[in-house]
Order: sequence, then C-alpha cells, then structure tokens
Amino acid sequence: MHELSLCHAIAGVVRPYAAGRRVDVVRVQIGALRQVVPDSLSFCWTLVRDHESMPEAELELEFVAAEVSCHSCGQHSEIASRWTVSCPQCESADVEIVRGNEFLVTSLDVT
Ligand SMILES: [Zn+2]
Repeated sequence: MHELSLCHAIAGVVRPYAAGRRVDVVRVQIGALRQVVPDSLSFCWTLVRDHESMPEAELELEFVAAEVSCHSCGQHSEIASRWTVSCPQCESADVEIVRGNEFLVTSLDVT
C-alpha cells in the first residue's frame, strides 16, 4: 500500500531526530500530486508508530495545492485535479510542475 510505505518513510526520518525521546507531533507536508488518501495515511500511521515505539506521535498533515507553469501561454496556475496535469487556462499539457510533489517532514514536537 502506497500510504504504508509513506508512513515507513516518515518514521525513518523521525527516528534519528527523536533519538529515544517521546515524539508528540509529527508535521508532514504533502503535495496534491502525491495522491495520498488522508484517512488511509492516518490509519497506516497508527500501525507504524506502534511498531516504531512512538505510540504517542500524532501525525499532522499539511496539504500543498499543485501548481503549474505553462509553456504554451505562460500562465502560472493552481490545478484542481490531481489526476491530470495540464494548464487550466489553455489546456496545454506542456507544463512544468511548480508545486505539488512535496513530501516532507517539516517539524517534530519531542519531549
Ligand atoms: Zn497554458
């Protein structure tokens, strides 16, 4: 499952930073193009955090809208659909993805 491997990746980032301390909150930034199902990610996290001995760690998700820069019309736009990547102004597929592929652990609260 996609979300499960993402959770393992998150835990892999958190583990060395936590260094045995209690992790309360893990904040993760996820781009719309990652096609993550939030409920599924939260559920997988509950499995992974127990396995990783950080059962108190809450996952806080911050979603980043996808944005493209169009080579045809030069417009910079946010795109609503996460399944097709094209320019909403002129429908050209000749676009560069500016944002939306983020997958970052941005901060942790440890005690
Ligand atoms: Zn365009």
